[in-house]
Amino acid sequence: MSDREGGSVSWSERPEPDRRPFYPIRTPTTDRDVVVVVLSADVLGVHVHYYNRRTRPCLGTKETCEGCGLRYDRRWKGYLSVWNRNIGRLELAEVTQEAYLRCPAFHTKKGDLRGMVLRLVRAGASRNARVTAILQPCQWERNVLPPAFDVKAALERIWFTEERANLYAEEEAAERGEIGPDPENPDVLFLRREQGHGQ
Ligand SMILES: [Zn+2]
Repeated sequence: MSDREGGSVSWSERPEPDRRPFYPIRTPTTDRDVVVVVLSADVLGVHVHYYNRRTRPCLGTKETCEGCGLRYDRRWKGYLSVWNRNIGRLELAEVTQEAYLRCPAFHTKKGDLRGMVLRLVRAGASRNARVTAILQPCQWERNVLPPAFDVKAALERIWFTEERANLYAEEEAAERGEIGPDPENPDVLFLRREQGHGQ
């Protein structure tokens, strides 16, 4: 009869919260500025390396940090939880060290950034041209803005999800008996097949 019989319309009294775990990181391009409303009270700064076309957090020492071990530059970046009103999404805005230092409002309004409009502009034609940050007051009442999300947790999800996925794959392999603790070194997992225990 009707091709609608198979499914049903999911009416709802209110919208469901956005459960997408990944907030995209926004940086300006040469032809598009970032214009967003700041939700965080302050910038969260972190030292990172950029290599293999990815930004990775610096883990401190040559022994623990792959980027330091490979002698890649270590740079400071600041991140803020922001609201992109144009598309109605929550995002992470990335501020370079130079943009941060050259924008007086990051210092005069420190801890009080929520509700300000942040504009990030890439000056010049190069992809790596200098970024300028401009903070301006906004007409929005702070209490009508969405709450800030946890910037640290959002960054860790971006950086470490791949590692976690590998860890889960290892756990599943251990459950299937394909890998297990090395009797000589119980903290290390090893492939049983490779050691001749399986097959
Ligand atoms: Zn490092």
